[in-house]
Amino acid sequence: MAFKVDSPNVSYTENFIISDYKYETTEILQDNGTMRAVPVSTQFKFRTECKKPRVGCMLVGWGGNNGTTVTAAVIANKLGLSWETKTGMKHANYFGSLTQASTICLGSGQHGDVYIPFKDILPMIEPEDIVFDGWDISSLDLAEAMERACVLDVQLQKQLYKHMEKYKPRPSIYFPDFIAANQADRADNVLKGSKQEQMEQIRKDIRDFRNENQLDKVIVLWTANTERFSDVRSGLNDTAANLLTSIKEGESEVSPSTVFAVASILEGCAYINGSPQNTLVPGVIELAAKHKVFIGGDDFKSGQTKIKSVLVDFLVSAGIKPVSIVSYNHLGNNDGKNLSAPQQFRSKEISKSNVVDDMVQSNSILYEENEKPDHCVVIKYVPFVGDSKRAMDEYTSEIMMGGHNTIVMHNTCEDSLLASPIILDLVILCEMCQRINFKTANSDDWETFHPVLSILSYLCKAPLVPSGTPVVNALFKQRACLENIFRACIGLPPINHMTLEHKVS
Ligand code: NAD
Repeated sequence: MAFKVDSPNVSYTENFIISDYKYETTEILQDNGTMRAVPVSTQFKFRTECKKPRVGCMLVGWGGNNGTTVTAAVIANKLGLSWETKTGMKHANYFGSLTQASTICLGSGQHGDVYIPFKDILPMIEPEDIVFDGWDISSLDLAEAMERACVLDVQLQKQLYKHMEKYKPRPSIYFPDFIAANQADRADNVLKGSKQEQMEQIRKDIRDFRNENQLDKVIVLWTANTERFSDVRSGLNDTAANLLTSIKEGESEVSPSTVFAVASILEGCAYINGSPQNTLVPGVIELAAKHKVFIGGDDFKSGQTKIKSVLVDFLVSAGIKPVSIVSYNHLGNNDGKNLSAPQQFRSKEISKSNVVDDMVQSNSILYEENEKPDHCVVIKYVPFVGDSKRAMDEYTSEIMMGGHNTIVMHNTCEDSLLASPIILDLVILCEMCQRINFKTANSDDWETFHPVLSILSYLCKAPLVPSGTPVVNALFKQRACLENIFRACIGLPPINHMTLEHKVS
């Protein structure tokens, strides 16, 4: 790290940064129609392990657009590749990655605010240190799969080819009922045997990968096709024990992604769900808690939803009332093809539709209880546009005295080039959280964050949070959460933007 904190509350040992931190909140007590706001302080001791471990990342859906693009991007950055395009020379970078391409204001110096790379706030692993592996139901090696994806410039692909062809996805779990029927023609790399046997094979793959590469830890991330939702039923997947029994008995309603999640947890590996389906059923959550393994998700927040979680937050917090939000998408990559089937579209629709709830609920001046804006999401498959997804949004709001304000937005974004940096951030931030422990007055021993790692919410369209805790979708709140928790680990106060020092005479 390029800086050290100079504070009596912070110490650096050979292996740890230790900080004594006063966490300050406001508790609201409501009684007979009156409200009392009570400042509350909780003393935390944070301990962050400094040594960066050797980390492996196994991607489910490695041969897809995201899987190949993220792998190619890391190799291109490692090799410092440049390539010529019709608009000039381009150089490998990590634009779009919170950890690699954004900055944090550390504090104020003699010449104003001092910003440091986000990744320097704590000792995070570098993308280039991550060893990649994974599974795919399609047998193409990663070079062929990169060609099929049609995402990267051809000149870059040519330079990457010999590096990518070394990688071949491991055979995966394919239960055709869960993804669109139009995916069947690429499923030539699939495991056989009972559900239990397939899960054991995934566990073995994780162990083999860890041993062959001498890794300290492995993180498993689902970037495979969107599945349909699974039923959640008592006796099926409602508890860890029932879920394990269901897998043993070959119960058809346990999805491939849930089998992957269970296999990862049993191997002690964090599991992140980058797609919208309800992989992380109650039985998975209980199993993760039992094994003290992090799980996170759901669904990468890459384009349209990211903007929505900024724009609606801005409107509602400006006292403007969004009454109708209509979002059209068309895309032509394999993700779009899969989403053209009704059940898979439904998973995406659910994931995209709750994203404004917290913002709407925060303003009882604009919205009555249970009132929501009309919110409609349409996705169409148009092969011609390939990975270059179009998102068109119309936001209509009520303004003063019955007036209306309509904002229309057209967003063309290369989908996998937005999702790939998010994959890196998810892995890097999840791994960082694994090295943070804390104690409060009630702790006998060092504790870890809740197994449902809601700190990853910034990167997720439909954030999974511990049961009974609020879901935050507003993007800048999510970012502030990450930034301020990491600041707490080094004993620094949250950035509060008061800048009182510039406002007094
Ligand atoms: P893709 O179709 O190009 O890649 C998915 C890959 O998963 C394919 O190679 C497919 O063969 C493989 N696959 C399917 N079922 C599998 C299984 N059971 N085991 C192993 N492999 C399997 O899609 P993509 O564009 O890379 O997107 C991947 C996922 O990420 C999709 O679910 C998508 O909805 C989600 N997502 C993407 C974005 C984005 O790209 N901007 C944003 C949010 C979510």
